[in-house]
Amino acid sequence: KFISIEGGEGVGKSTQIALLCDALNRQSVETIISREPGGTDAAEEIRQILLSGNDNKFFPRAEALLFAAARSEHVERLIEPALQNGKWVICDRFIDSSRAYQSGGSGLKDEEIMTLHQIGSGGLLPDATILLDMDLSQASHRVQKRQKLLGDDDRIGSREAQFHENVRAAFLSYTKAEPTRFHVIKANQDIDIVAKEIFDIVSKLMS
Ligand code: C5P
Repeated sequence: KFISIEGGEGVGKSTQIALLCDALNRQSVETIISREPGGTDAAEEIRQILLSGNDNKFFPRAEALLFAAARSEHVERLIEPALQNGKWVICDRFIDSSRAYQSGGSGLKDEEIMTLHQIGSGGLLPDATILLDMDLSQASHRVQKRQKLLGDDDRIGSREAQFHENVRAAFLSYTKAEPTRFHVIKANQDIDIVAKEIFDIVSKLMS
């Protein structure tokens, strides 16, 4: 099975992905964790190009092409072979981040992003997508704390608030359009509660 975890910055995706992977392993489900942009050597190189420098380094269309190229590499080289071998893949962001950031945030059309996804990755969609949703003020507080701790040099947190509001609204609108694939979880709850809610959803895919 293929599961993507989506949400804005600072909502706790990586913590929850690690907990989900542990929980699945305890059920003897062989699980691979990956992330976007990235996941393979070449796609991680594209990530470096995309996430270093300022937010306006690329025009939105060129940026969307690079995200689609990284995803294409990731899908063909890592995700599809893993799924064919019966493994589960949990991905930190996937196509819905491209939709939310390059369309919801940067103003390209959703159809344009989906066309690139069709060309690059055959339109592959996850079996389930978990959206970790949180108020922007809480999320940005967490991002600032993390940046102080890690000296994080990703461009995370550097964009203006309105951009992130648009991204959040875009994510939420996709959940309404595809209620079967998407599951929204309130990310401002205790870590253990969020983890349990995610596992309850994912365990339904096990049968
Ligand atoms: O938090 P994470 O490491 O996933 O952040 C990666 C960054 O890449 C995000 O802050 C987001 O701005 C950006 N991104 C994007 N479009 C995507 C995926 C990620 O702009 N499709």
